[in-house]
Amino acid sequence: MTGGPGRLVPPPLRDNCFALPPGVSWTPVDDALRRLREGLSVVAPVEDVPLSQGLGRILASDCVALRSNPPAPNSAVDGYGFAHEAVADDGPQTLPLMAGRSAAGAPFAGAVPQGHAIRILTGAQLPEGVDTVVLEEDTTTDGGRIAFRGPLRRGANTRKAGEDVAAGAVALAAGRRLSAPDLALLAALGLSTLRVRRRLRVGVLSTGDEVVPAGQAARPDQIFDANRPMLLSLMARWDHEPVDLGHCADDRVGLGRTLDEASEQADAILTSGGASAGDEDHVSAILKDAGVLHSWRIAVKPGRPLALGLWKGVPVFGLPGNPVAAFVCSLIFARPALSTLAGAGWCTPQAFDVPAAFEKRKKPGRREYLRARLSADGRAEVFASEGSGRISGLSWAEGLVELADGARHVRPGDLVRYLPYGGFGV
Ligand code: AMP
Ligand code: MG
Repeated sequence: MTGGPGRLVPPPLRDNCFALPPGVSWTPVDDALRRLREGLSVVAPVEDVPLSQGLGRILASDCVALRSNPPAPNSAVDGYGFAHEAVADDGPQTLPLMAGRSAAGAPFAGAVPQGHAIRILTGAQLPEGVDTVVLEEDTTTDGGRIAFRGPLRRGANTRKAGEDVAAGAVALAAGRRLSAPDLALLAALGLSTLRVRRRLRVGVLSTGDEVVPAGQAARPDQIFDANRPMLLSLMARWDHEPVDLGHCADDRVGLGRTLDEASEQADAILTSGGASAGDEDHVSAILKDAGVLHSWRIAVKPGRPLALGLWKGVPVFGLPGNPVAAFVCSLIFARPALSTLAGAGWCTPQAFDVPAAFEKRKKPGRREYLRARLSADGRAEVFASEGSGRISGLSWAEGLVELADGARHVRPGDLVRYLPYGGFGV
């Protein structure tokens, strides 16, 4: 519409200018997650690694205990061991003390006759004839005898063979991502080599003519690449092998070449930028041209454009360019998807309800994730601005508040769902 020669009149604002665009089909978050979960399976091959390199690796098969923990009955304390049968049920007791002792790694060679006691130290194997230990502090001794007061139950202060884990038991199941305590367990059970998945190689590519890598000169119309260091670090945190694919301009030929090369080097590819449906959104366009674009509008805020597709058989997660949206989409969608590809199966983030320290009115239609952190009294505070360009808010936050798809008016004190960064492994 024109308002006379040479004068352009902008169209009036629509009543629904803040509502979802009409005629657009949005994929609810749960549908998108379900689709990912159903469509993906493990792609990482299997390899053997020494236990010392097992941290963060994913078990490719069940780990069976090669020996029991403990392997033999031993003493839980420093004290004196004897046969329970030979002492009175209750009251003062005196037992002659045998020469010698049983220490950890230096067991007593002989048998202890009934009615005799022997010096025994923590972790020492129980000598033959010993089933019970009295704590050193509960005894007196003259060097030749010990005296103590009952009652003492049979087996007191001892550990039974296999009471923790018995040989032959499955200690950890396939799919487990190994933690430091897991490595302690497996070492105790006699394992020294672990059958694990090769780390998932995840390529990270930034796109956009305006994007410049850190360290280079940037004009005022250019921005530094914030997504690549963020996404590469997330991959490292998630125990994948980050593959830096660099940066690609908004050019479909170059992008296609880069994806071709990336599909040789990586098991999965994360791109950021150009995932929407605009003129310069080349990631979604190239996936669409190749006939492999699967889903690109998710009812989530921040981060609605998410382009998913297979490039030469390698899954591509086309994340939005906005760092806040790229981050949230990585945590919500890419994390469980990559976990599945890596062999650890689907994962859901830790979440719990806490009182809100804020007020917010939310429209229906999209699931929202707010940058949040807990106050000293355990209430969820949210970052002052919801602008998806506010990278400082990501850094300020220590978690996300998740608001369900429907409308909601959150008032201070209302319970809201809090997802700590820690629960995302961040
Ligand atoms: P796009 O998804 O390509 O439309 O980008 C959305 C917004 O994110 C734009 O303001 C981009 O300049 C910005 N952006 C895209 N890629 C990056 C990046 N790697 N680091 C920081 N900002 C980015
Ligand atoms: Mg762009």
